[in-house]
Amino acid sequence: KQAAYAELRDVEPFTRCGTRIQVMMNAGLRDDMSSLAMTGADGVGLFRTEFQFLVSATMPQRERQTRLYRDVLEAAGDKPVIFRTVDIGGDKAVPYLREENAEFDENPAMGWRALRLALEREGLLKAQARSLLEASAGRPLYVMFPMVSEPWEFDAAKLVFVEQLEFLKKQKKLLPDAIYYGAMLEVPALAEVLDDLIPRLSFLSVGTNDLTQFLFAADRANPKLAERYDWLSHSILRFLRRICQATVGQDVDLGICGEMGGRRLEALALLGIGFRRFSITPAAVGPIKELIRKVDLKEISEAMNDWLLDPSISIRTELEAWARERGM
Ligand code: PEP
Ligand code: MG
Repeated sequence: KQAAYAELRDVEPFTRCGTRIQVMMNAGLRDDMSSLAMTGADGVGLFRTEFQFLVSATMPQRERQTRLYRDVLEAAGDKPVIFRTVDIGGDKAVPYLREENAEFDENPAMGWRALRLALEREGLLKAQARSLLEASAGRPLYVMFPMVSEPWEFDAAKLVFVEQLEFLKKQKKLLPDAIYYGAMLEVPALAEVLDDLIPRLSFLSVGTNDLTQFLFAADRANPKLAERYDWLSHSILRFLRRICQATVGQDVDLGICGEMGGRRLEALALLGIGFRRFSITPAAVGPIKELIRKVDLKEISEAMNDWLLDPSISIRTELEAWARERGM
């Protein structure tokens, strides 16, 4: 099986009906970048910059951040890398960052983390912005913000980058060719204001790991709850389909970067409701490419629409049979 996936490395993931699907990979360390060539992924759709912060005993200084981002971009060659600004705080606590009122963070996933923290510790976001801008000199920069809950948070984070860019301009430094700003959609409230948010963005990436824990109010880290709610439930799929529908005809790239996209039946369901860009764990790139090549989008989308009408249907059971009948 592994050899078959290796053969798919240079094969572009077109569906049976001829649509090119973007299959990118998730990464967080310099060493992860070797998977890009190995899997033939279209780029890095989620680079979790907090990994460098989490493995470090002290706050990574600007030079260290810039070096990492440069190395990552160099390893990526011509392929795009979407850098997500730090998602620390809450359950991803770092010892050197004293969290105010940490004793009140009884639900750390919903606490003072990610962009909420970065917007208040402005020095941290400024340093990261400068590092990303400097490392991307002469090439495009893709940056995305985690845990955006309201559109103004996106604006405030973007402003930090714009100010750093102005500073570098004044210094006559070589700048990125272009900067594309995106947001993660992982807080359900944001899905209700997409009309307001989307015109501000180049791209939107759905983080289903956090989004589904918030939709079901079920801690993603609790093993007792791990099997309890299904990613293929009507509530999740109907919610995700509405997000797809909200982006139709809009000038925004919509993708998914949660673990859900790397699973066989889940990927089928996501194709069926309209997703065309996936960023998944490197090990899933081969299997998902293989699956995509067997899919007819019209067929899966009609099936999904039927199943989603009736909440008494188990979409998992239906999809399993659907995939089996088609040799997937
Ligand atoms: C997510 O929440 O789906 C996501 C991709 O981000 P993380 O897993 O890093 O929280
Ligand atoms: Mg997340």
